[in-house]
Amino acid sequence: MKLREASIIGALATAAAFAAGSVLAQQASVKKDFEAEIQAALQAAKTAAGFEFLGTLVRTCLLPQSGGEDTRDNVPGYVTNPASAPARDTWYADPAKVFDNLYFVGGKVHSSWALTTSEGIILIDTIFPYNSEELVVGGLQKLGLDLKSIKYVLISHAHSDHIGGAEMLQARYGARVVMGEPDWGTVAKYPNRYKTMAPKRDIVATDGMKITLGGTTVTIWLTPGHTPGTLSYTFTVLDRGKPVNVAYSGGTAFNFVNDTPDPGIRNFQTYIDSQKHMAEKAAATGATVLLSNHSEFDNAVNKNRMLAGRGNGPHPYELGAEWVQRYFEVMQGCARAAQLRLEQRLESAARR
Ligand SMILES: [Zn+2]
Repeated sequence: MKLREASIIGALATAAAFAAGSVLAQQASVKKDFEAEIQAALQAAKTAAGFEFLGTLVRTCLLPQSGGEDTRDNVPGYVTNPASAPARDTWYADPAKVFDNLYFVGGKVHSSWALTTSEGIILIDTIFPYNSEELVVGGLQKLGLDLKSIKYVLISHAHSDHIGGAEMLQARYGARVVMGEPDWGTVAKYPNRYKTMAPKRDIVATDGMKITLGGTTVTIWLTPGHTPGTLSYTFTVLDRGKPVNVAYSGGTAFNFVNDTPDPGIRNFQTYIDSQKHMAEKAAATGATVLLSNHSEFDNAVNKNRMLAGRGNGPHPYELGAEWVQRYFEVMQGCARAAQLRLEQRLESAARR
């Protein structure tokens, strides 16, 4: 090798070593501060929650998560032996007329909603098999609504606390049942788990699908996350004749597999993207009311009690558009914090 070539090679090697060194230095200087980012995401969720969404904050930021789907196909104890169902005083709540055309027929913990139209009822969620008879059927009767006019049953997701009465309502009143494709699949896959709860496969929800009855429309939004087929809705109700827009969030806790970076990081992203999607639809429709299928998240049972003392004051469910947005910020902040923890685990495993 000539001297000149050798010196060029030497210079190139020095340059390469320098470049590699500076890349390492750069990597060190921009190394993600996971703790700071996790704290920022948690703080964003806490700030968004205020005192209005403490239940949602506690559920998604503070309580331990299930870590994944239950893949067993067992008949629930309360189906095998109805006497083992939780005691009535742990779940019973009075039905309530909440808006001119929206009625609460849920319990203390889980909610069911009846949207009434000139051509019948659109029912949203159906609670457990052991209390749908008293709460949903009995509630509608107490409120003077015609059971035979239940035309649609929308199931936010196929968990037994929401799908529990769907089979009965379909069989007894001929209601059309709407559910997300993946959750129809789950019901078919686990015949024991859904015993007495499984409606015959019917309408498959799509993003933006409109369910219209008697001039009232519920628009369905696909919000996978809590389950792969979770649905959320936007619709309009009337408050003493005034139109009020509602955003209905159909799935909240982190029930998907989330105890390992793969697929947890991806699953959290699906959940976060869904909350953004729903927040956009809530903003676009001017939603000022946030509803859920758990009182824990929308304070439905407490608000129902406040209705009686409302007088000429504001409707207790009407929070305003900004608060509706804040609901979805709570869910996003908590999900992002949990996703960051998995990213941190992935990174420290790669460095080892
Ligand atoms: Zn659920």
